[in-house]
Amino acid sequence: MNRHVRNLCALVAGGLDVETARNEYLASLDADDGLAVLLIPDEAIVARPPVRSCERCGARLSRKRHRCSRCGLRQM
Ligand SMILES: [Zn+2]
Repeated sequence: MNRHVRNLCALVAGGLDVETARNEYLASLDADDGLAVLLIPDEAIVARPPVRSCERCGARLSRKRHRCSRCGLRQM
């Protein structure tokens, strides 16, 4: 996998949304790398690492949370 995708996924896994992660990452790159990042489709970024979601309501969960922020269900 492309290192840019991997780096973006790491930012998203850290709690940023895709657009914020892309903007922050772009700010750290030169023009050539920046262009490569702009060509990455959003789907490639959210696809991994797998996003955890609540079993009951489907809300997205951050990896650190053990409780759904929408419905309060405890997560395994
Ligand atoms: Zn829930």
